Amino acid sequence: MPDDMDATARRIARFIKPLRVKPGSKVDLGRDFDPRYKAGIRRKKDGLELLRVGKELLADYQARLAAQERYGVLVCLQAIDAGGKDGTIRHVMSGMNPQGVHVSSFKVPSAEELGHDYLWRYQARLPARGDIAIFNRSHYEEVLVVRVHPENLERQKLPAHSTGKDIWQSRYAEINDWERYLTRNGIIVVKLFLNLSKEEQRARFLKRIDLPEKNWKFSAADVRERQHWDEYQRAFEQMLSATSTPSAAWYVIPADRKWFARLCAGAVLAHTLIKIDPRYPTVSQDAWQQLQTARRELEAEAPEGTPADPFTAAGKRRRGQRPAVADPARGALTVAPALGRVHERSFGRLDTPSRPTRFRINEIFGRIRRPAMGSCVTTTRPSAAKPGHAWP
Ligand code: AMP
Ligand code: MG
Repeated sequence: MPDDMDATARRIARFIKPLRVKPGSKVDLGRDFDPRYKAGIRRKKDGLELLRVGKELLADYQARLAAQERYGVLVCLQAIDAGGKDGTIRHVMSGMNPQGVHVSSFKVPSAEELGHDYLWRYQARLPARGDIAIFNRSHYEEVLVVRVHPENLERQKLPAHSTGKDIWQSRYAEINDWERYLTRNGIIVVKLFLNLSKEEQRARFLKRIDLPEKNWKFSAADVRERQHWDEYQRAFEQMLSATSTPSAAWYVIPADRKWFARLCAGAVLAHTLIKIDPRYPTVSQDAWQQLQTARRELEAEAPEGTPADPFTAAGKRRRGQRPAVADPARGALTVAPALGRVHERSFGRLDTPSRPTRFRINEIFGRIRRPAMGSCVTTTRPSAAKPGHAWP
């Protein structure tokens, strides 16, 4: 990874560290996590700018994840009603290629789902390698709503031997085992709990009543559910304490400010993708030779009066130049097809992308200083370079 990417990765890691539930710790939400925490970011405007920059980074990593097809990412979102799950999904994922991102929302289980073991419906929605799956509510409902309302458990048709007093401890262990299995198989599990205060939930419910365009979101059942606030808080605490593991830790996202919650969710996902460090597939020297042969054949077909290769003729890439990033660490040639397109879209002509990765990273953080030959590079987001906009 280039130097500045290392620094960015470190900043993101530092930013999300206070949100991580240390495996083995006993969580007390009131004591350990403040729903109004905002990491010293004073202005919402700054937070939104960071999220915008972070979304570009996510889009770039997601493209690589999809191209590599080795790892899948499962993002589990849990929250109390009005916690902001839908908005988080909408805002954080909006920059990514929809082909590689799938959202599944889990509701009250259907008759068919109740006819199976409790993890069945979640297993069916796991991401394929290269994909990001988002669970809007997840298998954790099985130790949350099912625990707070035991009549849900009765509907699950479980055999008597598995419904004893230790059922919740057993479920935690089963979930941990399942997630360990997934992680070992390359399906990385990211767990986000949006931590909303009771007062902010009250305000959001009232807003749903006050604003006609939000009326559809209001549910009287949600207000009834609010009467079980304390039971839910205890269920969340026990879930966080028992299922934050070294390979699949929970992050408690301060949710009273929507913009900050979205920023945190994006940062945790970015941290995960940076750790995976997906790469574009590599081509061997032989494959490179075959590309050159194909090039010669295609160029020979050029109609009279047209350039042999319209792409290089337009100055988008120098003839003969490898559209690739030399990766000495791997001793291989990493083809970076998307990078060329990104330069083009963002900055117009870029004749000598000799270090595409570096350019991309520079672009992300608005620090481009040197225009390439024959190109006009403008930094369209100078504000991103201000200290206030660096990851805090
Ligand atoms: P919403 O997310 O507002 O559309 O509501 C979905 C509803 O489904 C919530 O009231 C959840 O508590 C409920 N739900 C989700 N998963 C389960 C489950 N496994 N068992 C029972 N209820 C569930
Ligand atoms: Mg609801």
